Amino acid sequence: MSSVNSAFKQAGVKLPLRAVVMGLGRFGGGVGVSRWLAQQGCRVVVTDTEPADKLATSIAHLRDVPVELQLGGHDAAILDHCDLLVVNPAVDKAKSAFVQQAIARGIPLTTEINLFVERCPAITIGVTGSVGKSTTTAMIAAAVDAARQNGVGGAEWGSVYAGGNIGRSLLADLGHIVPQDCVVLELSSFMLEDTPLAGWSPHIAVVTNLKPNHLDRHGTMEQYAAAKKNILRFQTPGDIAIINQDDAAVWAWRAECRGRVIGYSTVGAKALALQVPGVHNQSNAHAALAVLGALGIESGSDAWRAGCDALHAFKGLPHRLELVHTQALPHGRSIRWFNDSKATTPEASITALRAFARQSFICIVGGYDKHLDMSDFVRELAERAGGVLGIGATGQMLVDKVVASGAVTPPRAKYVQTLAAAVEVAGQWVGDADGADKLDVVLLSPASASWGQFENYEVRGAQFAALAKNQMAGKVD
Ligand code: ADP
Repeated sequence: MSSVNSAFKQAGVKLPLRAVVMGLGRFGGGVGVSRWLAQQGCRVVVTDTEPADKLATSIAHLRDVPVELQLGGHDAAILDHCDLLVVNPAVDKAKSAFVQQAIARGIPLTTEINLFVERCPAITIGVTGSVGKSTTTAMIAAAVDAARQNGVGGAEWGSVYAGGNIGRSLLADLGHIVPQDCVVLELSSFMLEDTPLAGWSPHIAVVTNLKPNHLDRHGTMEQYAAAKKNILRFQTPGDIAIINQDDAAVWAWRAECRGRVIGYSTVGAKALALQVPGVHNQSNAHAALAVLGALGIESGSDAWRAGCDALHAFKGLPHRLELVHTQALPHGRSIRWFNDSKATTPEASITALRAFARQSFICIVGGYDKHLDMSDFVRELAERAGGVLGIGATGQMLVDKVVASGAVTPPRAKYVQTLAAAVEVAGQWVGDADGADKLDVVLLSPASASWGQFENYEVRGAQFAALAKNQMAGKVD
């Protein structure tokens, strides 16, 4: 009990004896905050609309924690004994009768991320944007950590932590985090919707871009942008905003910044040495370098070079244009296998297609049919891919349309149904390519969800990686 008192007194927040965590979820935030509140001595009730069997993994992580579970719906009666409501970012508060009732009763609202930032003594670097958040967060953490280990201008630096929307609650680390540390937080628009409750913005805010997204929740583009802008709202003149100059929408926000503004751009910039392909990854890496600059690391110093080396070593986050295997072929040739299984929409897959030289890659496409408009994707696929292999429900249609366009002709466009068959055929096509062919990449970027053939995109991507590695040993059947 004494620890909860000190934790909450430290932040000047009244001690909540009884907390309700709304939304356990499957991504770690609900588990992290429930565990932390219980460890602080709070009586914790966890409620979720999903029943227990759908939340089995999260529940298993709470096995040793004294929390009460109220699953399969939100019973308003638990608000009778509630001093603090911790709302999961996925909850649409305006549409939730439970949240509205809590507000009407005057129960204070908070979130996992707010509880953390209110108590975090370290330098905070927040990253937001419509796309590129996770990648940029991971690149920043890797570059700052490497720079730190290679001596930063005499300053005493501590550890680097990465968390937030990237899937890890940092509340459990609060006891170890010291002012010299650096905390990199991926912040979604849903998280940023509530950070004003804590009156908080990070010391260094990074904004990658703004495209229409989550409008079902935010209502309008203006409201979506307003949520994102909260990353800058409580900055002070000593803080820094790092903004993508190549995205006109977010670059315009510089006028509203309270601290120093640093822009970054790929236009006219020398290409950075990266293993992850595409202009978008160049842009993410430039954001990470801008953070090094903002931290006072001089370009050309040992620490800077270590940061650049870390960016070069970065192989991408799982399932996002991730280099999963490099296969040596005779005559000094090789095949690079890229897993972009997270690309479940045509827009995401177009980004992947644009990351490689034309006709240099075989693309594996198709999956569950969400009835999305695939026409732009098919056009880019026909223009850019050196071969197309279709799998799953949408695979046949995609292959047929590419063939109908006349750009990619059979046999380099084929429906093979399964991922295993696609990996085998792709390996053969690249292996058999003659000197005139530029083929050296096999890319899984399905533009479709995985359901029907796989439990989720992670399972699909992991299977692709395993098949690609086995391909080398000729084990694929
Ligand atoms: P987020 O965390 O914002 O969802 P990720 O870093 O997970 O973004 O990347 C998801 C996908 O978005 C990537 O596979 C890639 O296709 C695309 N992407 C990544 N960075 C950028 C960027 N800076 N601009 C445009 N698209 C990007």
